[in-house]
Amino acid sequence: MTPTDLSTSLPDYVIEAIREALPELDKKIAGFAMHDAVLTGVETRTSSPLRIERKADYQSVNVEGLYPAGEGAGYAGGIYSAAIDGIEVAEAVALAIVNGR
Ligand SMILES: Cc1cc2nc3c(=O)[nH]c(=O)nc-3n(C[C@H](O)[C@H](O)[C@H](O)COP(=O)(O)OP(=O)(O)OC[C@H]3O[C@@H](n4cnc5c(N)ncnc54)[C@H](O)[C@@H]3O)c2cc1C
Repeated sequence: MTPTDLSTSLPDYVIEAIREALPELDKKIAGFAMHDAVLTGVETRTSSPLRIERKADYQSVNVEGLYPAGEGAGYAGGIYSAAIDGIEVAEAVALAIVNGR
């Protein structure tokens, strides 16, 4: 753990969103945005040391019909990134079905 200014670790739009969200959360959970609260880290892709490569249509580069997705395939490092990747892959599968591929 390295104490630092988190605003130097994340893009401006993320910092802006966090700055907007914290006071709102504080209205729901009193004390959430205390002046000396500490935010810990950024989500990183540390859980999977490998990545199963896929093409632009989200299918595996060498196994047709296989859609590597989520953490185990190396495309997520937490709940949000796994969920977003799952949505994108599900849309790609739906598109392939609609296009008869
Ligand atoms: C203790 C712990 C705490 C965590 N805390 C956080 C947190 O606070 N915030 C955060 O962002 N992330 C957290 N994570 C990480 C987060 O849970 C994972 O990154 C996320 O769940 C990965 O989602 P996924 O869908 O890629 O994989 P998974 O959720 O692992 O889903 C994979 C699914 O595939 C199924 N499966 C596996 N093999 C087969 C098979 N052969 N046939 C059929 N089904 C199969 C499994 O049963 C499972 O349901 C935590 C993880 C752990 C272990």
